[in-house]
Amino acid sequence: MKIICIGRNYAAHIDELNNERPSEPVIFIKPDSALLRNGNPFVCPDFSQNIHYELELVVKIKKPGKAIPRAFAPDYYDEVSLGIDMTARDVQDTLKAKGLPWEKSKAFDHSAVIGTFRSKEGLTLNNCRFRLEKNGQIVQDGHTSMMLWSVDEIIEHVSQYFMLKTGDYIYTGTPAGVGQIASGDQLVGFLEDQELLQTTVI
Ligand code: ZN
Repeated sequence: MKIICIGRNYAAHIDELNNERPSEPVIFIKPDSALLRNGNPFVCPDFSQNIHYELELVVKIKKPGKAIPRAFAPDYYDEVSLGIDMTARDVQDTLKAKGLPWEKSKAFDHSAVIGTFRSKEGLTLNNCRFRLEKNGQIVQDGHTSMMLWSVDEIIEHVSQYFMLKTGDYIYTGTPAGVGQIASGDQLVGFLEDQELLQTTVI
């Protein structure tokens, strides 16, 4: 399986990192070795002094598809969750300045924390709230209505380049409020008011 991630999908997050607003979705991929299952601790890697959390809505692909029109995109997922796109911001800044690919900063081991999946039933995916609490304080309070590209538009775009396969995950971008983690932090993610994700930083 693969993990497809969307960058710069919320205007307020683009502004907080002083990035340009893209004219089409920014895409990158993490390997399956990046996955960290819900409840397991996240160990900060030695190569970074500045790991950031990025809480994101995640959809799980349920059947193969290529060049999927957005009207048919809902047929390709039944389950959603939250994930944290852990990012070595210092490494990423160096790579970006040199115009190099982001993989060392985004695709390292356990950089894709994944929560427990739930049915999409009962949710309006383009209109739901999600939040990350760090040590009991809300640090990210996102709303999917603020996405530049909706889940279905993302699937349409991504599947032009990459064949989607059963079990693939799509991380749909992070809202504003990203920040640094430190040893001992407790991170908990909620979709609407349902807790779906939890990890402790070591
Ligand atoms: Zn992200």
